[in-house]
Amino acid sequence: MTATPLTIGLVAHDDKKAALVAWAVAHQAFLRRHRLYATGTTGGRVLDALPDLNLTRLKSGPLGGDQQLGALLAESKLDMLVFFVDPLSPQPHDVDVKALIRMATLADIPFACNVATADLIVAGR
Ligand code: PGA
Repeated sequence: MTATPLTIGLVAHDDKKAALVAWAVAHQAFLRRHRLYATGTTGGRVLDALPDLNLTRLKSGPLGGDQQLGALLAESKLDMLVFFVDPLSPQPHDVDVKALIRMATLADIPFACNVATADLIVAGR
């Protein structure tokens, strides 16, 4: 269990949004202890399921939300990123997706692109 609240980013591509909402519901006790930032649509879906979370919605990913999360990483303001990517669909904002993955890698934070990894990160906290 982490005593100090973390700042956690949440993003899911369209075909992965249901998986992210299910993951958030499964780990709601963990998420309630932390401050969350999510891209616009993802954040809306999570808040529909869990309205009491401390979650700030950024712009939608394709409209700059991924870049906003990248800016938080550049300023060392994100401690963890859960980014459920869809490897089977082309993304119009692929350059932003790559940039966010690059920034998360550079920042060396816990960073999950799928459910199994996100589960492991939470289990280790
Ligand atoms: P969204 O953005 O949550 O606004 O759909 C996610 C993404 O980067 O595709």
